[in-house]
Amino acid sequence: MIVHGVKVTVKGSTIKNVRCEACQCQYVYEMVRQKSRTSDNAAGAGAFGAIGALAMAGVSAATGGNDPEKLRADARKSLERELARTCDPVACPACGWYQADMVKEARKRYRTWMLGLGATLMVLGGAPLLIMLVINTDPHTAGRVSPLAFAAAGALVIAGVTTFVCRWRAQRGFDINQGYPSPRPPYPGAPTGYDVKQIAQAPGSAQPLPASRRGRAEAETWFYVKGEAQAGPVTWSALKRLVETGNLAGQDLVYAAGSADWVEVSSVPGLMTASV
Ligand SMILES: [Zn+2]
Repeated sequence: MIVHGVKVTVKGSTIKNVRCEACQCQYVYEMVRQKSRTSDNAAGAGAFGAIGALAMAGVSAATGGNDPEKLRADARKSLERELARTCDPVACPACGWYQADMVKEARKRYRTWMLGLGATLMVLGGAPLLIMLVINTDPHTAGRVSPLAFAAAGALVIAGVTTFVCRWRAQRGFDINQGYPSPRPPYPGAPTGYDVKQIAQAPGSAQPLPASRRGRAEAETWFYVKGEAQAGPVTWSALKRLVETGNLAGQDLVYAAGSADWVEVSSVPGLMTASV
């Protein structure tokens, strides 16, 4: 029987609000994450081979088998956890400093290919080494494995361990803030940070965040200008409460994360209406 496996992917983003440890300025960036879950069948039928299937089976077992709804719920939970707990290395737009959790995150991402290489070398050397050891301990087959084969497999294992150690040492010496305060290129793949003060000072001209989150007003994260200062982020319902309680008036400016510009409260559909 051929059962096609299910692969579920969920994507989400959140606005991270950061206070710079170096210059105390406040900035925001949009963090995007994606999570996938694959059912048992897909893993078994995939091109992962025996090891891949075994590894994937472990993941799938923990994620609820083949029910796409369960897979989706699990992916969403893990997505939300990651959005809440992790960060992107986004330098302070005012001074270029990376915050402590970002330094840690960059370290985690540093030369991850070495982990893959180390693991591959250890499997390539370790598996034959085990088999040869078994052959050698069996009295019927003892001595049939050449010492050269032992040495070759052992060398692979040692190379794998060395790769791990090298990565660990390089990672320890790696500081993303090296060179501060002179300008450095942005971290590859990381989103852009926007100085909250600049957004507030130049409403109308600001294009602080990508437009990927436009459209669903009620799911957005909002910012608003109150007096001289910008406030937020707040949820849609919190923003609505501010309008209802008279803290925000029709001509006050609000900004939805992901939209192109600041707009007046009165121009946002549904914000000034009394309904829920
Ligand atoms: Zn700063």
